[in-house]
Amino acid sequence: MNYTDAHCHIITDAPCPDMLAGQIRNATKQSEWDKISTVSDDKQFACIGIHPWHIASATPDWQSDLYNRLKQNPLLMVGEIGIDKYHDNIINQEEIFIAQLKIAFELNRPVHLHCVGAWDKILHIFKMLNKSMPPIIVAHSFNGNPSIIQQLANQYNLYFSYSVPQDAKTTARIIETPISRLLVESDAYDTESEMESIEMATNAIANILGQEIDIITEHIYQNFQKVTSYVRPID
Ligand SMILES: [Zn+2]
Repeated sequence: MNYTDAHCHIITDAPCPDMLAGQIRNATKQSEWDKISTVSDDKQFACIGIHPWHIASATPDWQSDLYNRLKQNPLLMVGEIGIDKYHDNIINQEEIFIAQLKIAFELNRPVHLHCVGAWDKILHIFKMLNKSMPPIIVAHSFNGNPSIIQQLANQYNLYFSYSVPQDAKTTARIIETPISRLLVESDAYDTESEMESIEMATNAIANILGQEIDIITEHIYQNFQKVTSYVRPID
C-alpha cells in the first residue's frame, strides 16, 4: 500500500522507509536547515522554516538565509511555521510567520503550518495577504473548529493532516475534511515510531470514514502527490 507521512521531524541521514511511498521532513529551526536540505528526492521531501517555539534562536539575517536556500534548492518547501498561543511573544511569532508566508508565496512553495489556539489570528493574516498566498498550505495536526474546514479548503487551498485520532473532536474534524484534502502524519522523530504511527493513523481514519484501508490510503497518497507536485525533481 502507498502509505505516506505528510509531517515528521526526522533530521538524520536515515532514508525514507521502504514501507512508505512518501515522507515530508520538517525542520523547526535554522540549525536544522543544513541537515535537512540534502534529503529531497522523488519520495523524500523536506521543509525549512522557523517554528513558533524557536523564534528566539533565529539569527538577524534569518530571512535572507531562508530565501537564498529556497531559491537555490527548488525541491524545498516551507515549514514548520505558524502561531502558538501557548508560547511566548505572539507579536514576534506573527511577524516571523507573515515574513515566511511572503517568501513561500514569492517562490511558489507549499507551507506546512503549526497552529495552536490561533486560528482567528491565522485567518486574519490570510485575509490580509489576500491573493498573495502560498499555493498550498498543509495544516499539520489540524485542531481547529470543524466548521472552518470548508472555508479554509476552498479559499486558501488548505490540506488537513492528522495523526492517530485521540478524541471525538478529531473524529469530527476528519469526517468534515473533504477526502481530496486529507493527509496522514506521524510527527515522529525516528523512522521506527513513524511507521507504527502511520499504519495506526491510516487504519483509524479508514474506520472513522467507514472505508476500506486501501481506498483511503490511495486517496491520501494522491493528495500527498498534489502537495509535493510543486517541488518534484525534473527527470
Ligand atoms: Zn511537527
